[in-house]
Amino acid sequence: MKKIGLMGGTFDPIHYGHLVLAEQIRAQFNLDMVYFIPAGIPPHKQDKNISSSKHRYFMTLLATITNPYFEVSKIEIEDKNISYTVNTIEKFKEIIHKDAELYFITGADAIYELETWNRVGKLLTLCNFIAASRPGIDEKKLREKIGELKEKYDANIIVTTVPALAISSTDIRERISLGKSIKYIVPESVEYYIYKNKLYIDNQF
Ligand code: ATP
Ligand code: MG
Repeated sequence: MKKIGLMGGTFDPIHYGHLVLAEQIRAQFNLDMVYFIPAGIPPHKQDKNISSSKHRYFMTLLATITNPYFEVSKIEIEDKNISYTVNTIEKFKEIIHKDAELYFITGADAIYELETWNRVGKLLTLCNFIAASRPGIDEKKLREKIGELKEKYDANIIVTTVPALAISSTDIRERISLGKSIKYIVPESVEYYIYKNKLYIDNQF
């Protein structure tokens, strides 16, 4: 059975933290493929000023093009409704990969928010989760939280570590609006895409 990784995110913009996370997990868990899924309308960021899904999709495509194991899925950005991961995974299972074993890849911060996600009980039965520690996250607390989720929802959440990159999209948006460099924080193609399209110049972080 194929093992498929799913990497959800707003990707506003995508950066090396996302790419290292996905690639390290792909290699560690022997995944056949990782699908990057830019969120259409992210439920947790509705009140924030988010770049258009077209820009986020293109940046994700540019950033992943050099990795033969990476694909970008339009499943969420083509949906006009709010992007709930549980719906995305249901669709993925039914239409695209009926017989595949799915692994949803997240940074540790997402694990803390997991219980606020739509139909979390259902979500945790649909696929495995792989959570990687992220700079600033207390690993002991993370393991406690995962223990709690396993007990409550019978979830399969695997914790792993990847080389730590203290990078976030929030920080990148802030850097651009302050005229600071983002070189070597995002792939060069993404850097040029951001400048060409004048993204994040008036950003409120
Ligand atoms: P923002 O600052 O806008 O929230 P972000 O950098 O956190 O952006 P998201 O698109 O919110 O990026 O994250 C998508 C996924 O990638 C989440 O599971 C998040 O935990 C993970 N992630 C993001 N940056 C890193 C990083 N530097 N190291 C490990 N995981 C990361
Ligand atoms: Mg985030």
